[in-house]
Amino acid sequence: MPDSLARRRFLKTVVAAAAIVAFDPTTKAWASHHGPGKVKIPKLDGALLFDAATRTQAADDFGHIISKTPSAVLVPGSVDDIVTIVKFARKFGIAVAGSRGLGESHSTYGQAQLDVGVIIDMRALAEIHEIDAHGVLVDAGVRWSEILAVTVPLGKSPPTLTDYIELSVGGTLSMGGIGGQVSRHGLQVDNVLELEVVTGEGKRVKCSPTKRADLFHAVRSGLGQFGIIVRARIRLVDVAPMARVYTATYTDAAVFAADQMALADDQRFDYLEGMAELQPAAPPIYKLEATKYFTPGAPPNDSAMLAGLSFVPGTVVTSDVTYFDFANRIAATVAFLQSVGAWALPHPWIDVFVPGPDAAAFVEGRLAEEDASTMGGGPILFYAFRRDKVTTPFLALPDSEHVFLFSLLRFAPPVPSAVAALVAQNRALYDELVLLGGKRYPIGSLDVTQADWQDHFGDAWCDFVAAKDEYDPDYVLTPGHGIF
Ligand SMILES: Cc1cc2nc3c(=O)[nH]c(=O)nc-3n(C[C@H](O)[C@H](O)[C@H](O)COP(=O)(O)OP(=O)(O)OC[C@H]3O[C@@H](n4cnc5c(N)ncnc54)[C@H](O)[C@@H]3O)c2cc1C
Repeated sequence: MPDSLARRRFLKTVVAAAAIVAFDPTTKAWASHHGPGKVKIPKLDGALLFDAATRTQAADDFGHIISKTPSAVLVPGSVDDIVTIVKFARKFGIAVAGSRGLGESHSTYGQAQLDVGVIIDMRALAEIHEIDAHGVLVDAGVRWSEILAVTVPLGKSPPTLTDYIELSVGGTLSMGGIGGQVSRHGLQVDNVLELEVVTGEGKRVKCSPTKRADLFHAVRSGLGQFGIIVRARIRLVDVAPMARVYTATYTDAAVFAADQMALADDQRFDYLEGMAELQPAAPPIYKLEATKYFTPGAPPNDSAMLAGLSFVPGTVVTSDVTYFDFANRIAATVAFLQSVGAWALPHPWIDVFVPGPDAAAFVEGRLAEEDASTMGGGPILFYAFRRDKVTTPFLALPDSEHVFLFSLLRFAPPVPSAVAALVAQNRALYDELVLLGGKRYPIGSLDVTQADWQDHFGDAWCDFVAAKDEYDPDYVLTPGHGIF
């Protein structure tokens, strides 16, 4: 029996035990008996769960900072269940949000949480439906690692991958999905051929660049505001079986940034990332991480790959791995962090997009505020891509030719006051960034107002609100971002 089916059957047993049968639209509470003014819970292929353990699981995410307990969790048995629950929520004025899975959302500040309403456990629908030379059609609950497991043996891959490939397709396409291939291919949202969405009106709609393009453009990086993504057809490209990974060290942020921008322009690598590393009692160092894919027997020419770069001589390290192992490169670190309990620590992350010309000075200035106590050993990402590689309308980026991703991926002690101080520090970073025209990648942890969101979307704000009015007219979808 497939896992998902076994899980649904088990869950049906649980829901029967809970004996919730009705909903009271006045109090917006579920009830164990019918009666005047109450409405029946709609019939579903899957299950609506009300038990405390399930709801508590849905009240957590990777950040472990925000905790909102939903009134119920839908484990959908079909896309029709999602249609039914969105319509029900709309009719009775309760919220709905999709989530990567119970207790497994990789959001860091409650973006996939809500209180009065229903969380949809998207992992319950996680089938890979079709693969051909151009694309793969998957349910939104599928993880990128599961896509790679079937495409890599065919010599194919989604063009852009997140650093961590256990994220869900629906979750990353709602946000963006950035990785080192962005300098060639844009983000994951720029590489979608077709989507199937349940809108906030409860309509199941297919959309693509040529069919219902308005919805297609709204939903990608739409932060779950316009529809629940239920299926996606992801573009596939040919990939060579091997990857040569180059790392090299820099001591000067401006020199590092200049090389990053030059590499984003000439695209000599298939993958381009970089990191900053804090040093005790010394300025930070910067690490180039760049990769070239190759066929065995025809490796890249190292001198040509590294020509003209200004890293510290003698610091280059190369290694060859399979394409899949490269894509899955942080799995061992994650397993280690899970084994020592660090995965369960609070993660007050901040991820921002910095305009190219300001990036080196901004990052140097901000790193002066950070040390082992604020990073907790978490990595600091710092890498460039070209603005014109990104075409998704609602992915907010600075208006500069080159853009840098700068991410402080903090691991914090489980002490509320320490976490609150880091969240405030994130806000200070953001305030400084905004003065430069920088933008936030909204997966991180900081408090924002609607005015911040308006500023975030800039000229696109009116389109964002218009799309909300059109596709989620009762504003039931995904309140966790605090936009409306
Ligand atoms: C260890 C780690 C590594 C990461 N690496 C990267 C990286 O390299 N690049 C990158 O871009 N991001 C990265 N992220 C961030 C990640 O992209 C976001 O957390 C994103 O939210 C996806 O996570 P998720 O699949 O768990 O979705 P969730 O956290 O469950 O959801 C994210 C948002 O999308 C909404 N949502 C979820 N599913 C759907 C759906 N089907 N339809 C509509 N809305 C939906 C949720 O309500 C929420 O608002 C990383 C996060 C972690 C924890």
